[in-house]
Amino acid sequence: MPDSEPLSLVSLREAGGGDSVPPPPPPDEPRPQRSLRRLWWPGAAVAGVTLLAGAVFVLAPSGRPALGRPRPAVSPSGGPSAARPAPAAVAEAASGPIGGPIPDARFAPGACVVLPPTGADRHQTVFLDPGHGGPDPGTIGITEGGHAVDESALTLSTALAAAPLLRGQGYRVVLSRTGNSTVGVMGAGDLLSGTFTGQGALKDLTARAACANLARAAALVSIHYNAGGSPANAGMVTIYDDVRPFSARSLRLASLLQTEILASMNGRGWGIPDSGVRNDASAGGTAIDAADRAYGRLVLLGPAAEGYLATPSEMPGAVVEPLFITDPFEASIAAGAAGQQAIAAGIVRAVDTFLQPTPSNAP
Ligand SMILES: [Zn+2]
Repeated sequence: MPDSEPLSLVSLREAGGGDSVPPPPPPDEPRPQRSLRRLWWPGAAVAGVTLLAGAVFVLAPSGRPALGRPRPAVSPSGGPSAARPAPAAVAEAASGPIGGPIPDARFAPGACVVLPPTGADRHQTVFLDPGHGGPDPGTIGITEGGHAVDESALTLSTALAAAPLLRGQGYRVVLSRTGNSTVGVMGAGDLLSGTFTGQGALKDLTARAACANLARAAALVSIHYNAGGSPANAGMVTIYDDVRPFSARSLRLASLLQTEILASMNGRGWGIPDSGVRNDASAGGTAIDAADRAYGRLVLLGPAAEGYLATPSEMPGAVVEPLFITDPFEASIAAGAAGQQAIAAGIVRAVDTFLQPTPSNAP
């Protein structure tokens, strides 16, 4: 679906009508709808993996009016709109002595950007992948205030919140994208009527893996937000691939992310359900095309497959889905500064623990 939503949290609020996203209720305030919630699997799985695969697949919350706000078209390349100011990360990266885009013809402008550490150098790289972008907004959520929010904007805000924290701890950070764009360069057959084809979605995900590999990242963290068929679907899930040579380490990373992000959010009293760590084959979902269905895993995490995926990611990785943005309560957290900071802090704690030089972390 075409998308040119503004990307910063401030812009999100402006796009929603100029008022701020209301804070979630205090922890002791009963929220009866919780009792209606189902776990992510299988009831809410319909959209999750589809969106991870890059498809544009929007589930409107049942019983709600359609989100009628018109969505302006983006350029066929999926590149950032000229009217949108460049994210601070881009300008900073361009000015840094060792930062900036990794030069590779596969990457769109503003994609695959290196950010050097600002703290004492740990000589380790963390790859942060804000899911979706450009022609692919991901899930369209709705806040308690009735404002539509794009998954692609929220994932970027989360990554841009986590990046400076990781850099401050001495990590080099590589962002798959820094604006509202694809990561891969789109060409013939990659887009149809402004949305990804299966080929385009695969190219974009393959470019993300290529960026992580070129960056020689020690850990890959892909950030998504979940979608359910009902506003009652809620909770956090983290996904890893269980057939890679480094799958044990991916599971450790995924478990740390699940634990630390939930602890960070729920330490603020939000009561986000724990839907667990799952492997990318059992996560279910709807494939975007026959080839994706045959592959049966997440391209960003999974193994090579002849004729489909030649260059898989080469490091431990996980996909986090901290919140369901089709649940207005969770969407309001995802769209708010406190929620973004809480999730970012959880990511940083998990990654930092994962990358500590202990025997259990040895390659
Ligand atoms: Zn997603």
